[in-house]
Amino acid sequence: MSTPAYAAASAKAPLAPWTIERRAPSAHEVQIEIRYCGVCHSDIHQVRGEWGGGIFPMVPGHEIVGHVGAVGSAVTKFKVGDTVGVGCFVDSCRECGACREGEEQYCEKGMTATYNSVERGTRTPTYGGYSTRIVVDENYVLRVPAGIPLDRAAPLLCAGITVYSPMRHYGVDAGDRVAVVGLGGLGHMAVKIARAIGAHVTVLSTSPSKRDDALRLGADDFAATADKTTFKRLAGQFDFIIDTVSAPHDYNAYLGLLRRDGTMILVGLPDQPVPLSAGPLVMGRRRLAGSLIGGIRETQEMLDFCAEHGVASDIELIPIEKVNEAYERMIRGDVRYRFVIDCASF
Ligand code: NAP
Ligand code: ZN
Ligand code: ZN
Repeated sequence: MSTPAYAAASAKAPLAPWTIERRAPSAHEVQIEIRYCGVCHSDIHQVRGEWGGGIFPMVPGHEIVGHVGAVGSAVTKFKVGDTVGVGCFVDSCRECGACREGEEQYCEKGMTATYNSVERGTRTPTYGGYSTRIVVDENYVLRVPAGIPLDRAAPLLCAGITVYSPMRHYGVDAGDRVAVVGLGGLGHMAVKIARAIGAHVTVLSTSPSKRDDALRLGADDFAATADKTTFKRLAGQFDFIIDTVSAPHDYNAYLGLLRRDGTMILVGLPDQPVPLSAGPLVMGRRRLAGSLIGGIRETQEMLDFCAEHGVASDIELIPIEKVNEAYERMIRGDVRYRFVIDCASF
């Protein structure tokens, strides 16, 4: 099926209209009519070749929600009309230790990403959610609970699970003191989810203008990182720091804000390395950790958690023609707090 999309022709090119072919669903596949797709900073990194390589033309988009339009003959989990989502990957080897444990994002043979990847069978490029339909194996499709407005659900498929998974894995609990660094797409979801868990949440931001929003989103405290007294005032305070920043910055300064045995979790993926001193880690037996999105089972758990706790993304809905402008605004930190593409605009 001929399907409208937006693609970057090369790493230097802006996104522009393009047409892709989507096949009819095979036995185990679900065809999804895409309603909304979130804009993740990872889309920008990949479209601009910031992580190296990249398969072009590239159709980004891995925060996909919509309705099932057709199902293959052997599909059992979904039926036509169901409200569903697709996140950052559409397949994995299904046999390795990671896949067997439901941590498909760490597939030892490499997950098949929703875009900028090649399909396991056909070796053809995958194209993402900046389009109007997608065909995905039913085992990699999520059910979006009825309680969450669909446009505000889209960002949960990447931003939501990316911050939920490490909170569960590293054990964020009610009463823990959690700092969120960077109030963008991932950061604002981290505030909401940590708050729903019952943690005490502080936002650390380069944008003093986001203070009121941070408190409205559920943070208990806000600190401007440009204010040098911040790093004195909050030294040794936090059980956890969730670092969502998309650009290189000094990790060492933030490590000093952890209490003894505290854990700083990197989810932001800047394109350049940053020097690290042993001191702040050694002196307080602190940990520096990382985390990549989340597996299918945990993503479903996160969606159900969000429905139960009334958590959804704060979004700015845009037509696809505004996507290049949205990228520029995100790079300036001017995002409140996720751009979501209305796919009816194609
Ligand atoms: P975003 O919406 O653009 O938010 C990033 C925020 O970081 C900005 O709003 C800004 O917040 C802060 N920031 C930006 N430049 C900064 C700088 N130079 N110094 C300090 N702070 C800065 O991006 P996002 O979609 O949340 O993604 C954030 C990062 O996570 C990206 O690198 C993305 O690729 C990565 N990511 C990782 C995973 C994973 O699985 N680990 C999944 C998705 C995304 P303030 O204005 O509050 O300072
Ligand atoms: Zn993403
Ligand atoms: Zn695997």
